[in-house]
Amino acid sequence: MPYVSGIEVTVYERRDDPRVAGAERGRSINLAISARGLDALARVGLDEQALGRALPMHGRMVHSPAGQQSFRPYSADGKRAINSISRAGLNHALLDVAEKTPGVTLRFGHRLHDVDLASGTLHFDNDEARADIVLACDGSYSAARRAVTFRPGFTFSQDYLEHGYKELTIPARAGEFALDPDALHIWPRGSSMMIALPNLDRSFTCTLFWPAAEFAAITSPEDHFRRNYADVVELMPRLADDFGHNPVGSLVTIRCWPWVHNGDGATLALVGDAAHAIVPFFGQGANCAFEDCVEIDRCLQETAGDWTRALSLYEQRRKQNCDAIAEMALDNFVEMRDRVNSRVFQAKVAAQHALERRLPGRYVSRYELVSFTTMPYAQIPRRMRRQNRATALVAAGVVGAVGALVRGRSRSR
Ligand SMILES: Cc1cc2nc3c(=O)[nH]c(=O)nc-3n(C[C@H](O)[C@H](O)[C@H](O)COP(=O)(O)OP(=O)(O)OC[C@H]3O[C@@H](n4cnc5c(N)ncnc54)[C@H](O)[C@@H]3O)c2cc1C
Repeated sequence: MPYVSGIEVTVYERRDDPRVAGAERGRSINLAISARGLDALARVGLDEQALGRALPMHGRMVHSPAGQQSFRPYSADGKRAINSISRAGLNHALLDVAEKTPGVTLRFGHRLHDVDLASGTLHFDNDEARADIVLACDGSYSAARRAVTFRPGFTFSQDYLEHGYKELTIPARAGEFALDPDALHIWPRGSSMMIALPNLDRSFTCTLFWPAAEFAAITSPEDHFRRNYADVVELMPRLADDFGHNPVGSLVTIRCWPWVHNGDGATLALVGDAAHAIVPFFGQGANCAFEDCVEIDRCLQETAGDWTRALSLYEQRRKQNCDAIAEMALDNFVEMRDRVNSRVFQAKVAAQHALERRLPGRYVSRYELVSFTTMPYAQIPRRMRRQNRATALVAAGVVGAVGALVRGRSRSR
């Protein structure tokens, strides 16, 4: 059970209730949710409901330019999966639970534009409210963060990728999935790529990652797709319409510090993308934001509900972990769009999986540690370095032993 109960909470959201208003066109329809997100959802009794409406993806299906498909399992035993979950469905389920929780009030159509920590006042476009504690989870372009940007000592950076993204659709074919639904599909093309995740209605949502400035130069999406993604163009009857109407999204990494700001009237803590937006190539942004909530809850338990100490602990514990996943997510872009194609990379993954099977629990790949465990993100690069050193030593030992054997043989000849 979460620690936070019996507290008056008001959730302010700038949009209308999505359960009534529906989703925006072309904005990330599904999410890959894995161990960290599920751990958080389990704490509010929503994991089974979420999994019940999720499509497991046990590996990557890599599509070559020639149209060949090759399946690469995510885990050594082939059994572990990340889950394609409808963003809207997840939002609705969370709102339903929040609405039923005593003490929680939902206020839609409330766009925050400023926070005054001296008086504890939240200023919305058409309203004002008072709060002692403000958990600011208003996304990458957080208005709450803007309100503290000019406080002395606040450090902030936003780094845009040259690439933007556009969402497209592969609809169901004769009521069935047009591609294998048990995989996250990738079309790696060196400097760009497309991915596709399955939806419950048997469609796929594709995300095309392409240099943002060059989207406008694609005047005929069909021709572009015939050149780069020939095996799917026939599966996308709405390509020209989707391409013409869906917006180009940007991909940003936000780093800032501190996350917690105290004033005479209120304390504000940045949470989720507002504190640490990351690029989506590890499928971890939402998982990581859910982990923030788990950590805040844990800190409240440890400090017996002392918000000042709890939030201070939260930011100290989470910052290095969020920095670590931000770096791993950037690195995974290169892996997905380029390295997955290389034979060396494929041999490396096969060797990693073989090691995982030989040394269960002792050798675990980075992908598995990120997606299938709740190991703090910052420990993962350190653990990978240790594992890589050990395997290099083993390999050197093997090579050394083989070398000695070869030398021994040549001497005895
Ligand atoms: C293309 C793409 C694919 C992704 N895929 C994945 C994935 O597979 N797995 C994964 O884990 N993550 C993924 N992510 C990342 C994930 O979407 C985010 O990390 C996650 O949504 C962050 O949650 P959040 O609550 O912090 O912010 P958001 O989801 O952005 O929510 C912010 C909320 O605050 C509201 N709001 C904003 N401004 C105001 C204001 N001024 N006043 C009041 N309300 C406001 C917004 O309307 C919104 O409801 C992806 C991101 C992108 C761009």
